[in-house]
Amino acid sequence: MSGYQRPYAASGGLRLHLNEHTGGCSPRVLEALRRLDSLAAGLYPDYGNLAEQAAAWFGVKPDELALTNGLDEGILATCVLAFRGRASADAVIVEPAFDMYEVCVTAMTGAVRRVRMRPGLRFSADDVIAATGPETRVIFLNDPHNPSGTQLDYEDAARIARSAPGALVFYDEAYAEFAGRSFIPRALADHPNVIVGRTFAKCYGLAGLRLGALIAQPQRIAELTAVIPPYSVNAYAAAALRATLADREYVDAYISQSAASRELIYAFCREHQLAFWPSAANFVLIRVGDNVGAVTNALAARDVFVRDRSNEPGCDGCLRITAGRLDDTRAALAVFEEVLCAAR
Ligand SMILES: *Cc1c(COP(=O)(O)O)cnc(C)c1O
Repeated sequence: MSGYQRPYAASGGLRLHLNEHTGGCSPRVLEALRRLDSLAAGLYPDYGNLAEQAAAWFGVKPDELALTNGLDEGILATCVLAFRGRASADAVIVEPAFDMYEVCVTAMTGAVRRVRMRPGLRFSADDVIAATGPETRVIFLNDPHNPSGTQLDYEDAARIARSAPGALVFYDEAYAEFAGRSFIPRALADHPNVIVGRTFAKCYGLAGLRLGALIAQPQRIAELTAVIPPYSVNAYAAAALRATLADREYVDAYISQSAASRELIYAFCREHQLAFWPSAANFVLIRVGDNVGAVTNALAARDVFVRDRSNEPGCDGCLRITAGRLDDTRAALAVFEEVLCAAR
């Protein structure tokens, strides 16, 4: 049991391997953090109406949302809820998948039922339903999907949720802002077993402060709140979230830059005859080929960090690159170009 391996990257370079915001947080967040005094550090955080503000941001009611210490904690809380007190229970994970699903299931001594995506990384709801057993307590869905950037069909998601009323469906929307759509309204209206996960790490630029949210029907949120520590969002994160929610412009600007960056990356791939998956998120999965490890290392040697995903099922020869601010993407693609030319 090894847990999560933190990927390496030097701090100075162009970090395009963890789908972070390439420009960091909004300047207004920094101002808010600078205004905090010694008591802010010394006292337990006073959240005031923070959860209400976050709920309003997502268009839900306050009792339909719980804030978490990053979405990772939301995944862990979901697993605690699903697995506590159960001797034999399992989770369905569709691979390739975000690493923390398995880490948290394993931490709660759950077993993993693996479903491979079909060739070309196509999602199959039938395969997920077929893999679900009587002891299945959680089904993990991820939309847009990391690492392919592909989207789920909402009818498929609804069918899966209805097929397993005794399981929780963790609907991971870490990249939903980039896709411009959300399963939240359907989950709240029709699916008591669906928990939607959101994060402020990716398009809001708050990965270092650790902030996520779980959204579900009120009864479910009450159950989750009971297993989340009372002060898991710290005072700095709380202040940052308030400032972020008051600066929609900053987020919107990044979302449109990311969309334009994706187009640049697609054009680059076409020019170099590299296969790629059109993405609804802030990253693109590219099939570089057998030399993907050497290419990733050559990029890193020039301070451009991308993620070699070639060991993931269905991702042979692939790397994943973040589509952030346009200038960062242009700079990265210029280096990529040199590396590819040198390799040929
Ligand atoms: C980044 C990511 C998360 C975790 O977000 P944090 O808020 O940083 O914990 C969850 N799910 C997916 C698919 C992600 O890519």
